[in-house]
Amino acid sequence: MLKLPDFDDVCAAAGRLDGHAHRTPVMTSRTVNQELGAEVFFKCENLQRMGAFKFRGAFNALSKFDQKQRNAGVVTFSSGNHAQAIALSARLLGIPATIVMPHDAPASKVAATRGYGGKIVSYDRYQDDREQIGRDLADKHGLTLIPPYDHPDVIAGQGTAAKELLEEVAPLDALFVSLGGGGLLAGSALATRALALDCKLYGVEPEAGNDGQQSFRSGAIVHIETPKTIADGAQTQHLGNYTFAIIKRDVDDILTVSDEQLIECMRFFASRMKMVVEPTGCLGLAAARKIKADLKGQRVGVLISGGNVDLDRYCSLLRT
Ligand SMILES: *Cc1c(COP(=O)(O)O)cnc(C)c1O
Repeated sequence: MLKLPDFDDVCAAAGRLDGHAHRTPVMTSRTVNQELGAEVFFKCENLQRMGAFKFRGAFNALSKFDQKQRNAGVVTFSSGNHAQAIALSARLLGIPATIVMPHDAPASKVAATRGYGGKIVSYDRYQDDREQIGRDLADKHGLTLIPPYDHPDVIAGQGTAAKELLEEVAPLDALFVSLGGGGLLAGSALATRALALDCKLYGVEPEAGNDGQQSFRSGAIVHIETPKTIADGAQTQHLGNYTFAIIKRDVDDILTVSDEQLIECMRFFASRMKMVVEPTGCLGLAAARKIKADLKGQRVGVLISGGNVDLDRYCSLLRT
C-alpha cells in the first residue's frame, strides 16, 4: 500500500515554502466573467519563481533532505519546468543537482537549467530510458532521485497553490487545473477536499494526450505514446501511482481541449490580461470556456500553471 500524502503534508509544505516561493496573485477579468457568465479567479503560477508552480514541489522535496542527502545531491529527469525548479531549489539550498535531459531539449531550457547551476547529463530520447539513467546515477553516486510528479513531497508542494487560492477566494463551485503526470492535480485535490468539499475539481489535458481521462474513466493507469501537442508540459505518457490514487479518489472529471483552443487562450491572456502564458498553462481556461454553459452564475477557479515559452515559439504560435 502506498502511503499517500494528505492535507497536513500540504500545510507542512506551505510552511517550508514560506519566504521562498512567491505567494502568486489571483487575478480577474471582466471580459472573461462576461463571456462565461461566471466569476472567474485566476491563480497566476506563471508569475511563480522560475515561471511555473513546479518550484513549489521541488523546493518542498529538497527541503526535507537530511544532511547526508544534501551532501550527495539530487538527480532528476526532465526537459521542462521541473528541471529548472530542481536546479533553482538546489542552488537556494546549497545542494548539488544533476539533471538528465534529452540532447535535443530547447536551448533556452538547457541554458536556464545551467544558469541555475544544474549539471546536465544528456541522453537520446529515441534510444535511452531517462528513468533508468536517473536511477543509475542515483545508485552510483548516492544521489536522491526526485521525479517530476510521482512523489509525495512533490505532490504536497504543488498542492500549496490551490491552498492559497482557496484561502483567498473560497467558496468556489469549480476549479480547473492543468494535468500532465498529475502532481499538480493530486496536490490541488488534497487542498480542495480539505478547504472546499463541494467544489467540483477538473483536471484538463490536451486532446491528443488524454491518458489521464482514459485512466480516470477505466479505473487503471493507461499508458500512451508521447502525444503530439503544443502543450509540452502535459506530454506525459501516463499518470503515476501516487497521483492516480489521489485523482481517482478526489477528482470529479478529466476534460480535454484542442491545441487551437489553447492558442485562443494564449491570445486572450496576452491581449486582455497582459500575461505571457505557455500553452500548457492555458488548459484550465480552455476547458472552462468549453463547458461554460455549466458554469453560469458560479464562482470558478482557474490555475494558470506556467508561463515559460521560448519567445520565438510564442510569437509563431500566436500568429497561427
Ligand atoms: C509540469 C507542468 C504541468 C503538469 O503538471 P503535472 O504535475 O505533471 O500534472 C502543467 N503545466 C505546466 C506549466 C507544467 O510545467
